[in-house]
Amino acid sequence: MAQPETRFIFITGGVVSSLGKGIAAASIGRLLRSRGFTVQLQKFDPYINVDPGTMSPYQHGEVFVTEDGAETDLDLGHYERFTDANASRASNVTAGGIYNTVIRRERRGDYLGGTVQVVPHITDEIKSRVRVMADSTDVDFVITEIGGTVGDIESLPFLEAIRQFPAEVGRRRCMFIHLTLVPYIGHAGELKTKPTQHSINELRRIGINADMLICRSEQPLSAEIRKKIALFASLPVEAVTSGYDVPDVYSVPLAFHSQGVDAFILDDHFGLEAPAPDLSSWQRYLDRSAAVSSEITVALVGKYVQLEDAYLSVVEALRHSGVHHGTRVRIDWIDSETVGEAGVDARLRGADGILVPGGFGGRGFEGKIASARIAREEQIPFLGVCLGMHVLVSEFARHVAEMPGANSTEMDPETPFPVIDLLPEQKEIADMGGTMRLGADPVKLHEGTWARDAYGEPVVYERHRHRYEVNNHLKRKLQSAGLVFSGTTPDERLVEICELPREEHPFFLASQFHPEFKSRPDRPAPLFREFVGAAHRRAGGQLPKAEVNVTDARHATTP
Ligand code: GLN
Repeated sequence: MAQPETRFIFITGGVVSSLGKGIAAASIGRLLRSRGFTVQLQKFDPYINVDPGTMSPYQHGEVFVTEDGAETDLDLGHYERFTDANASRASNVTAGGIYNTVIRRERRGDYLGGTVQVVPHITDEIKSRVRVMADSTDVDFVITEIGGTVGDIESLPFLEAIRQFPAEVGRRRCMFIHLTLVPYIGHAGELKTKPTQHSINELRRIGINADMLICRSEQPLSAEIRKKIALFASLPVEAVTSGYDVPDVYSVPLAFHSQGVDAFILDDHFGLEAPAPDLSSWQRYLDRSAAVSSEITVALVGKYVQLEDAYLSVVEALRHSGVHHGTRVRIDWIDSETVGEAGVDARLRGADGILVPGGFGGRGFEGKIASARIAREEQIPFLGVCLGMHVLVSEFARHVAEMPGANSTEMDPETPFPVIDLLPEQKEIADMGGTMRLGADPVKLHEGTWARDAYGEPVVYERHRHRYEVNNHLKRKLQSAGLVFSGTTPDERLVEICELPREEHPFFLASQFHPEFKSRPDRPAPLFREFVGAAHRRAGGQLPKAEVNVTDARHATTP
């Protein structure tokens, strides 16, 4: 049974999608933490995929990997960055996952011949996924975000389950927060509250009365509008929060706090006493972020560059690192298939740093190799992540270690120099699927390297999501040509980080794991931090871009 003290907050969305429910949930989590409570966040996704692991980044954005190796929705990244509490496998539940569990149980005969139905079997399973968060983590608050929009057919079982939930734990331990949109209609010159009214009514029809509203809008809502919304929602005006647009998502917790969101949740709704919030470290980050005095350009060479969300944690890690160094990081998105075109190569040469993120499949791989070559030859700081390490190793093998045609067998199974390959034991079970290395594993860092100095510790835990590894048979050849394997598994069997020595290059490094998943606003991922630091030095330290002579060859071609 759930800890008797645990409180449950459910966050739903109405009117339209993409209102930023994840940021709102994460911000509330941050505020509760800042008042001394422990918090776990959870996301329910109403689609039928069992997890987002196989969904296209174009459909779904980045796949966020948790410490325990679950492939999850990118909102979990927001949860971790805002609350600094690690999410887990239990933090992301899809309709497909729920149905999968219930159907497997039915096949085993667990229902003893009974008819298996959405209510109660699916809804019971959904409720158990909420309770398990409280049972397994012993937290003060579980915050559950329901994906989708109220009124969607597919959200219904989830909404029905959370409607039933208070009957199990007591209404006073539950709270429903509803996020809506208050659009501004330009030609009428007015903010419109009608969609919010409809959305609240839709929730009521399902049997849920919102305890608090967060109304998204471009500008802060006037007291008058909030009063009007409060009246038809049967809520006190303090329960109507204006979720106005802010330039920096990390300022949302402060915008909520200034409107008394945490006070309303804790004092008015749950009747809990709590110390005043300590948001000082958060505020320090925002102050530093507002005070950045320069801008650098990082060329991000990838396959899904039309959709920023596909690389969300990478973007955030760059941002955290930039703030650490007092600089804004502008990303020049480069489609890896266009590398080699004159204008594109000039952009790469003009960048202060080049980054190749994770990816799957051969499309654009050669363009990524060409980018790494430019970075190596022109002394431009380079960071490779996961597939980016396969790129670095293949490039180095071909052009330095005299292994023409070197490649990953993922791209070219016939390559004469398979510098990146499946492990022998993986090949045997490849047909069974599920061979991916997922989640946090220990990484041993070797003395006297960038990597070791960046982390400042001999062993770290970082998150993985990949199949292919550096081929041990060709390791020595790469090493004798000058590549340094600065991070390995503790048994030294698998390569985790490779780099060029500092004397040879300002920063040329890649990791097999994804450092971006553990980056936090006030604690940037060490490898990103060092990469951005090197890029910042290349850009000339503190000099604001606006003052850079635009005819400076390095920047002349950057749009
Ligand atoms: N496709 C590569 C592999 O499976 C890299 C994966 C990634 O970049 N996440 O090993």
